[in-house]
Amino acid sequence: MIVRVPLAKRYKSGQIVPRDGIYRVSHHKHRSPHESVLTRGMRFPICKVCQDQVRFEPVTAVEPVGGTNGRNRGSLLVVDPEPAITFTLKQILEEEGYRVWAATDYSAAQRMLTQNEYDAVLADIHLEDNTAMGLLRRAINHRRPPVVMLSTDEPNVASLRAMLKMKVNYLFFKPIDLSELRSTLACMIPRRAIAMAAAGMR
Ligand SMILES: [Zn+2]
Repeated sequence: MIVRVPLAKRYKSGQIVPRDGIYRVSHHKHRSPHESVLTRGMRFPICKVCQDQVRFEPVTAVEPVGGTNGRNRGSLLVVDPEPAITFTLKQILEEEGYRVWAATDYSAAQRMLTQNEYDAVLADIHLEDNTAMGLLRRAINHRRPPVVMLSTDEPNVASLRAMLKMKVNYLFFKPIDLSELRSTLACMIPRRAIAMAAAGMR
């Protein structure tokens, strides 16, 4: 939900972003101002050209997903052929306030993606597998696309390249590091919500 109360202050590169939101970014003498989605807790970025001479003004603040109680942090579809993995991830992430659905095959996952909207999809994908690629395309081309995260146990240059081409948001190497997963979800789900709210505004 959009809170249409602009924050009053201006910020500099390196300061901590106080709230999720859209910020107006003004550079020093080299490009016109633009807007950027920033999430709470990160630092206001530095520019390659004008370094820390960038100024940020809040345009729109956005409430965290699920309001302030923190118990609904977003919905997630986990796809992995290993039931032990989907089971474990579901347990852990539900404990942390996510609503989690699991699928152990791509066609079930495709159906779920067609029928529901998820904030994020985490799928174990073999990029040479057509059903897997179909799933991936469906997720990315969804009317309201989820954050798309893949996991792989055989990282190689070809799969990295394919992943970049598909505009996947994140790639995990297996076994998935839980703290990496936590921080990725905590960063990307609010970003998605902000971007969607921003798109709906214009
Ligand atoms: Zn600059």
